[in-house]
Amino acid sequence: MSERLPRHAPPGYDCPFCAVVRGEDAPWTVQADVVWRNAETTAWVNPRWWEKNAGALLVVPNRHVENLFEVDRQLAGDVHAAVRRPAFALKRAYRCDGISTRQQNEPGGDQEVWHYHVHLFPRYSGDALYGSAARLTTPEERAPYAARVRSALRELGDEAQTA
Ligand SMILES: [Zn+2]
Repeated sequence: MSERLPRHAPPGYDCPFCAVVRGEDAPWTVQADVVWRNAETTAWVNPRWWEKNAGALLVVPNRHVENLFEVDRQLAGDVHAAVRRPAFALKRAYRCDGISTRQQNEPGGDQEVWHYHVHLFPRYSGDALYGSAARLTTPEERAPYAARVRSALRELGDEAQTA
C-alpha cells in the first residue's frame, strides 16, 4: 500500500526541517528560533511572517513523514499534543485574540516543504490573515518572539500539557 501514498519530494531530498530537528541551522531557520522540543516533536518560529501575525510557529514530528497521508494514529496524537502546548504559550506571550492552525498537503494544497508540518498562527480580530501577504524575516527579527514564547512555555510548565 505504501507505494500508493502521494509523495512529491524529489529523489535525494535534503529536508530542511529534518536539519532543524537534528539541531542544525537550515535555510531560513536557525536554532535560536526553536521554542519547543521533545522526543517526538519540535516547534520553531516560522521564518515567514504574515503581515499582522508576527511570530507564528511551525510544529513538526521529529520523524520525517512527508504529509498527512503518512501520519499514523500515534504520530497524529503526538503532533496535536505538541500543537496544543505552544498554542497556550502564544496566547500568553502575544495576548492574541485567537489561534489558527493550518496544515497543507501536496502541491495542490500549497505544501512547500516536504515534511509534515502544522502552522500555528496568533490571530487578532480583523487581522485578515487569509488575504494578507507573507515575507521572509531575519533571525534578528524572530529572536525576541522566540524568547517570549520560550518564556511563556517555562511559565506555563506542565499546566499547558493537560486539559
Ligand atoms: Zn524531514
